[in-house]
Amino acid sequence: MWGMIATWRMAHDGVLAAKELLEGQASCKDAVETAIKAVEDYPFYKSVGYGGLPNERGIVEMDAAFMDGETFKIGAVAGITDVANPISVARQLSDEKFNSFRVGQGATEYAMLAGFERKNMLTDRAKKIWEKRLAEIAASNLDPYDGHDTVGVVALDTQQQMAVGTSSSGLFMKKQGRVGDSPLSGSGFYVDSTIGGAAATGLGEDLMKGCLSYEIVRLMGEGLSPQAACDRAVYGFEERLRKRYGKAGAFSLIALDKNGVWGVATNVEFTFSVATADQEAAIYMANPGPDQTTVITPITQEWLDAYEARIKAPV
Ligand code: ASP
Repeated sequence: MWGMIATWRMAHDGVLAAKELLEGQASCKDAVETAIKAVEDYPFYKSVGYGGLPNERGIVEMDAAFMDGETFKIGAVAGITDVANPISVARQLSDEKFNSFRVGQGATEYAMLAGFERKNMLTDRAKKIWEKRLAEIAASNLDPYDGHDTVGVVALDTQQQMAVGTSSSGLFMKKQGRVGDSPLSGSGFYVDSTIGGAAATGLGEDLMKGCLSYEIVRLMGEGLSPQAACDRAVYGFEERLRKRYGKAGAFSLIALDKNGVWGVATNVEFTFSVATADQEAAIYMANPGPDQTTVITPITQEWLDAYEARIKAPV
């Protein structure tokens, strides 16, 4: 058996590329890195890698993490700049016994010294969106933190090993040095090859309050199916958060178990991509359903066309 699940429609092309690897018996680690790099490299995705929207000072600061479900090795970067593929840096860091989670200048310098591709990650388009947003915020006192999404990928290979990765440019207009959940173990991602893995996207400040990726893996370890684990962790925590904190930001979680069975839960409209040995690669849409359940439907061509038009619309 092999399988993979990834957050958002943006991950689909990367999933298609990674699926070929898994079918050819490649490692889940290569599959995760390949899928995420495709998203990081694509200039029209505004929340990951090249073309990602900058922080309030106009700098693209990125967060990424990589975890090996076999050994529990973790590598992560936060607030890294001018590096083409933060996921590859995170993966390499996962082999370090010490200093495996690097932030800011330390992360960027590590990547430069290690020979990772250097790249100005701010596209003209992202810069224009940033300038426009600055003007809008000044004119109408808007909430600046509008727009974010992380690519998260969980993969299982034919050797029955598992890995997970995340990559994000975080919240649009975030303050310098702000870090989300994506590079944080347990919050943005977690995987244990003997159980399964999970990854998150959504408002990092709230996701970290619930350590939802770890919670989903823990629940799967207790015998819940990936879907039941996602539903219980996500909707249960959303309820607790609303009660005790007063509100809950948007969040969506994906999970895959060691048998290639998957699940998702979300409190907003959420798209994701799946491919397994038993199931053709496809994009689905998830929405919160009644009684703490998730409604999952195949994506429509109409939605895909509108999405394509939206991400490429003139600024
Ligand atoms: N989780 C990311 C962050 O808070 C953003 C997102 O996935 O929407 O940085």
